[in-house]
Amino acid sequence: MTDQYAVIGNPIGHTKSPLIHGLFADETKQDMTYAAIEGPLEPEGAFADVVRAFGASGGKGMNVTAPFKLKAFAMADERSERASLAGAANALKFENGRIVAENFDGIGLVRDIEVNLGVPLEAQRVLMLGAGGAARGALLPFLAARPAEFVIANRDIAKANALIADAGARGSVRACAYGDLETMGRYDLVVNATSASLTGDLPPVPPTVFSPEGTAYELAYGKRLTPFLRLARNVGVRGIADGVGMLVEQAAEAFAWWRGVRPQTRAVIDRLTVPLD
Ligand code: NDP
Repeated sequence: MTDQYAVIGNPIGHTKSPLIHGLFADETKQDMTYAAIEGPLEPEGAFADVVRAFGASGGKGMNVTAPFKLKAFAMADERSERASLAGAANALKFENGRIVAENFDGIGLVRDIEVNLGVPLEAQRVLMLGAGGAARGALLPFLAARPAEFVIANRDIAKANALIADAGARGSVRACAYGDLETMGRYDLVVNATSASLTGDLPPVPPTVFSPEGTAYELAYGKRLTPFLRLARNVGVRGIADGVGMLVEQAAEAFAWWRGVRPQTRAVIDRLTVPLD
């Protein structure tokens, strides 16, 4: 029987996941379908009912997108370490009547930076802006790449400190306020993990954090030159990228987890890329 997968979110019309997983399935010759489901926002419990019904009807796995990542995590029977630190799931697997939660956002991000962009993180100075869901998912994969220094700046600094405390003593990481950044020097990699770009805003990051030989990475994708990427370009940063590669890489991780076969990502990234200019 053809195996069933789906992505669930609300709204869901914008999702690229059926296209991405359809291309992966063609390439790896997997007998599977992949649908988009608009999950119910209310009443409480309705989202979990839809997920359970999908599993009970033979569904093998789901991707989860906004605003359901926390609910998906909470309803799971088992959770990976990455999902536990993020407190959020972006992928579920239905296995022997149980729901297993994973979070591949961070590993997809780090893979895009290190493998696709060819920017090794080991011994580098890395600055991440934002301490929301995506930043939570990214923390462990970033620390596993062994940067010399990893700094998280957030408007609400307590949120950044809570994220670091939840990660425990796993590496060299600290939180700071945006106002402190001006005296902290240049970073090899600056990652915008805030949602500011979704509203056309710029996080209050000083231009002094960028290094011309470094990289500026924007998690949002398909938005061309966001204010963050524009600032980086204006101060002469050579490497600038948006999050389309992260999107495809996290999908590839989920696909490999579900199907036991790793798809190629380059052609899919090229197909989905919206030029920055
Ligand atoms: P959250 O809502 O969980 O977190 C938002 C974060 O952005 C918070 O740290 C918040 O700071 C900060 N923020 C919002 N507006 C501003 C602003 N104007 N200036 C400074 N900081 C701001 O969002 P997510 O973590 O889920 O998403 C973050 C980004 O990542 C989005 O652009 C999203 O599209 C993208 N994303 C991309 C993915 C991909 O595959 N490429 C996957 C997942 C997310 P504070 O706490 O101080 O309010």
